[in-house]
Amino acid sequence: MRARRSKRYRKIMSSYQMSFSFREPYQVLLDSHFLKACHSFHMPLQKYVENTLHGKCNLFVTKCTLAKIMDAHQKQKERKAAGGGEGGKARGPGRPDFLPPPTEVPLRHCKHKNDEGEELGIVSEARCLLDLLAGQPRGNEHAKNKQHYVLATAEAEEREQHGRGFIDVRERARLIPGVPIVYVKRSVMILEELSGVSERAIKKVEREKFGEGLVGLASRKRKRGEGEDDEEEEGERDDEEQNGATAKIRGMRRAKGPNPLSVKKKKNKERVSQPAGGGGPVDAEAEPIRKRPTRRGGRRVAARRDATQQEQETAKEPSAVAEPKG
Ligand SMILES: [Zn+2]
Repeated sequence: MRARRSKRYRKIMSSYQMSFSFREPYQVLLDSHFLKACHSFHMPLQKYVENTLHGKCNLFVTKCTLAKIMDAHQKQKERKAAGGGEGGKARGPGRPDFLPPPTEVPLRHCKHKNDEGEELGIVSEARCLLDLLAGQPRGNEHAKNKQHYVLATAEAEEREQHGRGFIDVRERARLIPGVPIVYVKRSVMILEELSGVSERAIKKVEREKFGEGLVGLASRKRKRGEGEDDEEEEGERDDEEQNGATAKIRGMRRAKGPNPLSVKKKKNKERVSQPAGGGGPVDAEAEPIRKRPTRRGGRRVAARRDATQQEQETAKEPSAVAEPKG
């Protein structure tokens, strides 16, 4: 890989890491076109994908992709058997050459459900991949690449492109924020730049973060709880509203009481209640100043010193006992 391209890809992946929480090993979904292209250009899958994404990768083929591949393979075998003059044998390898064994590219189980929650079983490859990439949204949920999948694809054959109900997976995947797309074109593996939707999602998060800086922590928690992703305008309006309400709170913690350092001590009162000179020596401030020097080396300090010495001695004792033994 050319150095400049490699550097660019590293940068792209780091923005997926920062903005969409992608982590190694990356989960890469390979489609049938990708497998075919890599096989025909003799590109080892694991090595090429890892070089492109600059990190460890787990490659997967979905159940629906496998079904499509095996179905096409079966039909091809039958066609050969029907049209072939070699005894009409339907014999051949159990799997097409371009499909790697499951030890190399394991199967990704996928359960597709419609909005009513009914299981759909095996669906078309494109639908399957887009369903997984969009985080299998229900109802009016927003598409979100929750599992952090990477899509690896290639151009479909022309016959398939013109076929009925053809869905361009790459084009549709660009509409889901945070989906890295790898594709093979003429023996080169390419990592697409972030799609417009992804860029917009990043900008929106950045704007929100900036807003939060002004608004404060409380609103950030509230917003996260709501988990609103795509309603930009509403979010902005929210920000403005909150600016008025919580701007004062920002960065300030209300003191629970007066500053203890600036408060006058209450001992004056005690002195008033106690007749001067009477009672025990409670504290130095209340006593006449001239008594202070005598206090310094007075009984209290001496008593405290005694106490600490005793403590030290008792602490030493066990070791003193243990030493002769050992
Ligand atoms: Zn599927």
